[in-house]
Amino acid sequence: QDTDRDSLFSLNDFARKFYVNTLFETEEGKAIGLSYFLERGFREDIIRKFQLGFSPTAWDTFTKTALQNGYSEKYLVDSGLTISKDGKHYDRFRERVMFPIHNLTGKVIGFGGRILTSDKTKPKYVNSPESEVYNKSKSLYGIWLARNSIVARDNCFLVEGYTDVISLHQSGIENVVASSGTSLTTDQIRLISKFTRNITILYDGDPAGIKASFRGIDMILEQGMNVKVVLFPDGEDPDSYARKHSSSDLEGFISNNSDDFIAFKTRLLLDETQNDPVKKARLIHEIIHTISLIPDPIIRPLFIRECAEIMQIAEQTLMNELNKLLRKKK
Ligand code: ATP
Ligand code: MN
Ligand code: MN
Ligand code: MN
Repeated sequence: QDTDRDSLFSLNDFARKFYVNTLFETEEGKAIGLSYFLERGFREDIIRKFQLGFSPTAWDTFTKTALQNGYSEKYLVDSGLTISKDGKHYDRFRERVMFPIHNLTGKVIGFGGRILTSDKTKPKYVNSPESEVYNKSKSLYGIWLARNSIVARDNCFLVEGYTDVISLHQSGIENVVASSGTSLTTDQIRLISKFTRNITILYDGDPAGIKASFRGIDMILEQGMNVKVVLFPDGEDPDSYARKHSSSDLEGFISNNSDDFIAFKTRLLLDETQNDPVKKARLIHEIIHTISLIPDPIIRPLFIRECAEIMQIAEQTLMNELNKLLRKKK
């Protein structure tokens, strides 16, 4: 029902303003929240652009304020902003810096909240649950601010986290989204495909990021789209890299390190396979498997040729293997 959706949008918008106001206008918000963002190097114009906020430390400040302003308990609970337990109500987000999540048209559909300390007993991020307006597998963080730039540059950068999106904007790169709250889904890739056929993956330079990149490559190619991957130095993510380097260094790093999937897989897997024919064969099979996911039969042989050149193996041998895989799929 549209009335439920409207009520949730309206409540989320109230919450967004409440958290922004808490960040900029309360002693607690300024002392804990705003100083956190500023120490991270976020500029005030960027904090405003992303509508970042702060959730108070007390148990139910937001819930009480929303009720006083006429918002109903039902939508407070449905939105996930309020948690109801044993007849008591308390705020889901407390003492966290707040990242509102928007839909394509800029309406708030949910929130992510980051802890300020390094308390390992609590989750680093808390996110809104799904609701009638928030479908995690179909949402992309930052899409409302990125869509025009994605079209203009005919490319979309895909990062892991909220802060990566924000830091890239601060460095002047606006065609960027994150699949926050889930691992990448086919629906998210289809959403990007409304604006461009080209995706560049900029995941964290750690084993989890590399693993997610392999998965992302296959999913993007399966949608008939083009994919490139940038591997960040060990332990860095786009945000931490952007903080240590100038905008032009960042742009340079990305353009010099954008690999296609064959170069990326070869670079990562070839080191350990040096001169070992069995391991080299495994890598070739791995690459051919990925090529077999590409729906366009005109494109597949082009990648086969590239693979043959890099791996120093006859094109026809690879073609035969590819055809075997393709026959199996039918
Ligand atoms: P920061 O730089 O603030 O530490 P990050 O974005 O680099 O944040 P990562 O640990 O790399 O944090 O995680 C990437 C993304 O995954 C986060 O932005 C967040 O959307 C999501 N995430 C991370 N930890 C959690 C968690 N405990 N629960 C839910 N989502 C999480
Ligand atoms: Mn990570
Ligand atoms: Mn990260
Ligand atoms: Mn980070």
